Amino acid sequence: MSDISNNSPGGDGRQILAGAHVLLADRDANTASAVADALRDQGAAHVHTVGSAQAFLDAGRTPPPTVPRWDVAVWDTGLTGDDEALTAFLCQWHEQHPRVPLVVNEETPSTRRALAVLRGRAADMVERRDADGLVAALTRALHERPADAEPRSRVHMLVVGAHPDDVEIGAGGTIHRRADEGWDVTILTLSRGAGGGDPDERRDEAHRAAAAMGARLVMEDLPDGSITDDSHTVRTIERTVAETRPDVVLVHSDSDTHQDHRAVHRATLVACRRVPRVACYQSPSATVAYRPNRFVGLRDGDLEAKLTAINAHHSQAASRWYLEEDLLRSTARYWGRFSQARYAEPLEVIRDATPLGFFPADHV
Ligand SMILES: [Zn+2]
Repeated sequence: MSDISNNSPGGDGRQILAGAHVLLADRDANTASAVADALRDQGAAHVHTVGSAQAFLDAGRTPPPTVPRWDVAVWDTGLTGDDEALTAFLCQWHEQHPRVPLVVNEETPSTRRALAVLRGRAADMVERRDADGLVAALTRALHERPADAEPRSRVHMLVVGAHPDDVEIGAGGTIHRRADEGWDVTILTLSRGAGGGDPDERRDEAHRAAAAMGARLVMEDLPDGSITDDSHTVRTIERTVAETRPDVVLVHSDSDTHQDHRAVHRATLVACRRVPRVACYQSPSATVAYRPNRFVGLRDGDLEAKLTAINAHHSQAASRWYLEEDLLRSTARYWGRFSQARYAEPLEVIRDATPLGFFPADHV
């Protein structure tokens, strides 16, 4: 491995990685040390080497005292095993450190491996021991990494539903109220509702509905009617969780007769295990075991926006009893009994781990 530094670009004194703090994992300590020297030659301020997944994750969370934060990380796939384990590990890193790009070192690059790396949202893959390639990949990753976020003052809420129109019915008024109050609200709909009509039409309806509530919409394409709570669904939800970093998540209740709703509930709880506030909205298929303990008061405008959003789902209106306006209005009026407002939407709180007083009492 002595040829690494000799082959590195920038031998003319250019400091390609000037000031960068790099976390580097490699199965072999001598290789790690040689690569670290090569990166320091390119100006890296600090290269911290580790030899295991646990040490990598620990150092990711708690950098050494001399490192203010990691700028970029390098992972050796020899430490993670098969493609599935690699993707899961990379997703874990991305979820914990969405702003620290990760470049993967691979002994024998292949399309199959590249796909696993892509699914794990890593920044790049290079052949292990290719120092030039690694420096170039790190330079690109540093150049393209997301801009540092300002400290967030806005609350981010993610609302997850199995089908188009689920979140509108369960939490449409809450979404409108919070968006109107300045929260960033993202709706994640996991299927395109092929079981209830033309998917393209339903997608357009869902976008119109999201706009009526002031929210952004992310649509995935899991199979309507047979959504599972397996790792694929969890990872699908984790992608949006990593991107939006929500403070609050709303989802279907487990007390629901629809199998998709229950599966989405369970997968979301796994994907959102680090989100401080998680609560469940009421779907028309909720059972009497649904037990709300938080009630979001709705203003007249919030209820009207909810009805507008639901009306955007034209293709469903004729065939679904639960979309009838008098039922939607009277349900909101009924739940108003439990709040200070005339209308309300109920929530079943799963977890509320924010410091006391961070939100007013009804701010889920
Ligand atoms: Zn549904």
